[in-house]
Amino acid sequence: MVKVFWHDHAVSREKRENLNKHKGCVIWFTGLSASGKSTIANIVDHKLYEMEIRSFVLDGDNVRHSLNATPNILNNHSEEFAKRFGLGFSSQDREENIRRIGAVGGLFCDAGTIAITAFISPYKIDRDRVRQSLSPGDFIEIFVDTPLTICEQRDPKGLYKKARAGEVKNFTGIDDPYEQPEKPEITLDGCQDADLLADEVITYLKSHNKI
Ligand code: ADP
Repeated sequence: MVKVFWHDHAVSREKRENLNKHKGCVIWFTGLSASGKSTIANIVDHKLYEMEIRSFVLDGDNVRHSLNATPNILNNHSEEFAKRFGLGFSSQDREENIRRIGAVGGLFCDAGTIAITAFISPYKIDRDRVRQSLSPGDFIEIFVDTPLTICEQRDPKGLYKKARAGEVKNFTGIDDPYEQPEKPEITLDGCQDADLLADEVITYLKSHNKI
């Protein structure tokens, strides 16, 4: 068994945060598909950029092509490798997907930067594990509270339609549960204007001395 040693960084998180003139944290958006997570996340990112704050959006589709690639994307590796390390959509694969994103979020915190994540992340236990893996105050859970009927009306990718027709299985909100956060740091009414919702997030970051 090879032992893995933890190295202390010569440049501390505190020093990096002082350099950046703001704190690191993970802004974790959760909610149904089409609730508005990506839209609000990107507006928040843009507003932070305008304020010269270092932030970056980790988005479901992007991460599924890289760090958490599905097995078919890993086709330049052996079949066995792709099966072992690629992530599909089974409940265990979803669990690992969220764990890896949480771990990357932790690295962003250590780098004194702000990670903004936009994943359905339907299971409370997976989100709570990420919360527990980070330092107190680093995990800012934002529930984008948009009724299923509105999400279904929006349906920009036609996924709800497919799920209703039985063409897509295990779709959150249709035939897979969405577990609402019990005590999120912020709940956003997803029917409001997205720009105003992003402002609510910025106000929270200011009032909690993150920026
Ligand atoms: P998610 O990331 O939660 O799947 P998206 O951000 O992709 O959701 O938004 C889904 C659709 O809803 C998009 O077409 C988007 O333009 C629209 N949308 C997002 N937020 C709002 C909002 N606050 N009001 C009205 N429409 C919105």
